[in-house]
Amino acid sequence: MSNNYIRDNLAAVKQHIHQVAVRSGREPDEITLVAVSKTRSLDEVKLAIDAGQKDFGENTVQDALSKIPELKATRSEWHFIGHLQSKKAKYIPGNFQWVHSVDSLKLAQKLSSAMANSAENSKINCLVQVNVSSEDSKSGLNRTEVLPFIDQLLQLDLARISWRGLMTIGVQGDDRQTRAAFSELRQMLYQCQHEFGLVDFDQLSMGMSNDYTIAIEEGSTMVRVGTAIFGERNLRSL
Ligand SMILES: *Cc1c(COP(=O)(O)O)cnc(C)c1O
Repeated sequence: MSNNYIRDNLAAVKQHIHQVAVRSGREPDEITLVAVSKTRSLDEVKLAIDAGQKDFGENTVQDALSKIPELKATRSEWHFIGHLQSKKAKYIPGNFQWVHSVDSLKLAQKLSSAMANSAENSKINCLVQVNVSSEDSKSGLNRTEVLPFIDQLLQLDLARISWRGLMTIGVQGDDRQTRAAFSELRQMLYQCQHEFGLVDFDQLSMGMSNDYTIAIEEGSTMVRVGTAIFGERNLRSL
């Protein structure tokens, strides 16, 4: 693949985000593009960094740790977006600044103690993953569990975690259901802000390559885009 491939795709995605934001009456600056670099090589990530990309998403610890330590000097921000087993929480501090997929109290506690045991002085930004479409195969909390879960999280008073918002995955191949799911997640965010008086709980991580237009229209502040930037993942194994 030519060096310009990733650069051109990034430019096109950014331009599209800008256009959709403006036509939806939103500030383009309030939308973070997370380039999903799972399965991509270190060189592909470097090309994206050279093209000005700052935020990257990974969904397994192993894949991520083959890249992140090599890229420390670039000051990139790393987002963990996959299912995280609590025993792997110890790999997060120092590598990731965000975890989008918190869905258990145990994981939250492990993340907080991993932060406390690390050399990091900062807090980790966490989002609660919600399975709005209620498809069994997906991880995340069911919609009815969200408010009670956040109530319990806040009672734990985990000093090293900053609770930043909600994340979900759309409904594959169904734009109407996806829009309904995204809209519902936004309502849930407002409900949480209101119910718990959380000041920084303002992030909605929703939208992937095939549905980030809908996501931005429905209020997304973090779109997680892989294929539209780096190309089809399965082409790599050909
Ligand atoms: C892979 C992945 C993405 C990116 O998907 P694309 O279709 O390649 O844009 C976004 N979010 C999560 C949770 C993912 O696992």
